[in-house]
Amino acid sequence: MLIVGGGLAGGLLALALRERGVDVCLIAGQQPSATEWSYGVIPGWPLGTSALAIRSAKAAGLWRDLQRRYGDLGLSRARIHLHGGKPWARLLPLPGSQVDSARFHARLPELLKQVGVRYACAEALSVERQQGEWLVRCSDGSAHTSPQLVLAAGAGCRRLWPAWPEALRSSWAGVLELPEAPAHGLRLPAQFQRPALERSSAELQVPRTVVDAGLVPRGAGALLGQISSFAPGLTLQAPPPALEQELRQAIAASGLPKDLAEAPGRWHQVPVAFSRTGIPLAGPLADAPGLFGFSGYSGGFAQVPVLAPLLAEVLAAGSPTAQGQLEQLQVWQPAR
Ligand SMILES: Cc1cc2nc3c(=O)[nH]c(=O)nc-3n(C[C@H](O)[C@H](O)[C@H](O)COP(=O)(O)OP(=O)(O)OC[C@H]3O[C@@H](n4cnc5c(N)ncnc54)[C@H](O)[C@@H]3O)c2cc1C
Repeated sequence: MLIVGGGLAGGLLALALRERGVDVCLIAGQQPSATEWSYGVIPGWPLGTSALAIRSAKAAGLWRDLQRRYGDLGLSRARIHLHGGKPWARLLPLPGSQVDSARFHARLPELLKQVGVRYACAEALSVERQQGEWLVRCSDGSAHTSPQLVLAAGAGCRRLWPAWPEALRSSWAGVLELPEAPAHGLRLPAQFQRPALERSSAELQVPRTVVDAGLVPRGAGALLGQISSFAPGLTLQAPPPALEQELRQAIAASGLPKDLAEAPGRWHQVPVAFSRTGIPLAGPLADAPGLFGFSGYSGGFAQVPVLAPLLAEVLAAGSPTAQGQLEQLQVWQPAR
């Protein structure tokens, strides 16, 4: 089995496939990933009424199981303080969990190698069908073949497979990496603005940015963000300039402590895949036998641990039960 993309999606899918005895080769590009700079927050409640949102509310238990099997992956309990929104929303911190994206990102490659994944540090340049197999050519000159290929390359999927579903798009996100852990705990906006922009992304005529002011611990420091930048069309363009200044101005006007707007920090911007329907893809791609997509999450840290074992079960054993569950969750839709 070939997987392109060594972020959260490709990583957890590779682990689930190895647990089922599948030989896995994972092609991991070294471009910045959404996973590395994610807040990694897993709310302890459903973020919607869909079947996937309800299943994802239990993701912390799945991460605990993963940690029991594989050791530290960065999971801890979190108290989520909200700012903005209705006054009652700010009264008490909400229960949740967080995967520290610095710890997870640092640990994942070594863990994948430990469990026997063949880990290729290279960028996939092309995907072709040749003699009934998928052929992936890479930047280091290597070429890999397999009857089954999963694209889990986040915002890099469309470049590899131009017929990538129209609903799956990409944007830029920017955060500041602060050297100190926040004294104020984990702070998120009561109402995120990003999801509405994701839903209307197909109608965009001009680029739009939105700031969802949050402050979360990461490693020994913190992440302060997040600014999201969307542009019309399906191709990911270069990020607009001055996003950092725009983020700092919005932080100054937000419910977060004002001094944070001037705090020294390292700027990071990463491409982020999303689905304009809110429904990710964990299933086959149309007219491409053996080619699968695994991408498009709004909250990957809650959704991927639910979906990766189900997709692995279908890929490893052709399980109709697991496929039925993916269909029920609406993430397996061959026709779109
Ligand atoms: C600032 C920020 C905050 C977030 N906060 C949360 C949160 O609190 N909770 C939550 O659940 N989610 C959050 N998310 C979203 C979450 O991070 C993503 O849903 C998740 O990380 C997506 O993982 P992925 O593996 O699909 O994509 P990515 O992490 O982007 O991984 C894709 C990988 O594919 C690689 N790649 C791309 N092209 C190629 C190629 N041609 N060849 C080889 N490799 C390639 C890239 O280098 C990358 O490593 C946040 C995201 C951001 C940016």
